[in-house]
Amino acid sequence: MQAVLTVDLDAVAANWRLLRDRAAPGRVAGVVKADAYGLGAAAVGRALVAAGCRDFFVAHLAEGMALRAAIGPGPSIAVLNGFAPGRDEDAGLLPVLNGLGDVAAWAAAAAVAGRQLPVLLHVDTGMARLGLPPAELEALAADPTRLTGLALQAVMTHLACADAPEHPLNAEQSARFAAIRARLPAAPASFANSSGLFLGPGFASDLARPGCALYGINPTPGRPNPMRQAVTLAAPVLQVREVPAGTPVGYGAGWAAPRPSRIATVAAGYADGYLRSLSGRAVGMVRGRPAPLVGRVSMDLITFDVTDLPALQPGEMVQLIGPGNTPDEVAERAGTIGYEILTGLGGRYRRDYR
Ligand code: PLP
Repeated sequence: MQAVLTVDLDAVAANWRLLRDRAAPGRVAGVVKADAYGLGAAAVGRALVAAGCRDFFVAHLAEGMALRAAIGPGPSIAVLNGFAPGRDEDAGLLPVLNGLGDVAAWAAAAAVAGRQLPVLLHVDTGMARLGLPPAELEALAADPTRLTGLALQAVMTHLACADAPEHPLNAEQSARFAAIRARLPAAPASFANSSGLFLGPGFASDLARPGCALYGINPTPGRPNPMRQAVTLAAPVLQVREVPAGTPVGYGAGWAAPRPSRIATVAAGYADGYLRSLSGRAVGMVRGRPAPLVGRVSMDLITFDVTDLPALQPGEMVQLIGPGNTPDEVAERAGTIGYEILTGLGGRYRRDYR
């Protein structure tokens, strides 16, 4: 008996199409780093290609190579964390240049190769994480010959506060990005992530880079979720036991049955990304009805109070993520974000793609 992670690829494709329509006439990429936020980059990548997606972003070179093997030649794959020039560019992956050092290394490689090398340039407009910082931008704008040999596929920047539409940094980053682009050689702009696509006109740019919304995470926190849910996680009941009132359940004896209770022990735990901080705070859905998680989450096991539900049998599946306990809802109960719930899902599930 095994937990099952079901990924609805039709929902992922429908989410991409919804974002594509929002971004038009700009293009929309698929951000499939971290194994497509835990859903499986190969399957998700192929589904997005079938939907019409022609541009992908990953974080690491190895992710890019694996994705190229899965989706074949054709679509572009950009590596956000960058990579050094060498034999790897033969995989047809695009480096994101995050600093002047990257620019110099790739310009030198272009000179050696005797041809233009395609790259993306990342500029920092207010996040102070990756991308050319202001001083490096000044140096580049003052001497654009540093870009000789580099074919700029896009100039990109990343929003720090896109999920907070009222935050003044959104407009500030937008203005800084426009000013920077005016000082660099002409190239398509890549700006919005998922939430950025909901900030209003001007943020989509030529190439949006949504990730989380593809996978059903709400890009408009605090407002209704316009995306389709793409993930269901269900784990089997191993045992059901009747316990008298006062019986402590689980590590630390932190929860005791307040009444004669029926406890279902289910085969998933924090080793599967079902966070320990969910202890006493989550619900499992059993035949569409919520059952409270009681006791602490252990490594491979969790316990639910199913006293008020119809009798359960070992083998019956309890839904840990899905309708009624979406990734966003589970995240809120765990005190984190839906991204962390999805990317933290472990590797012990059987994966079903629909
Ligand atoms: N662009 C960059 C540079 C990112 O780091 C990320 C994700 O963290 C994305 C785009 C996609 O963001 P989101 O998942 O919020 O749409």
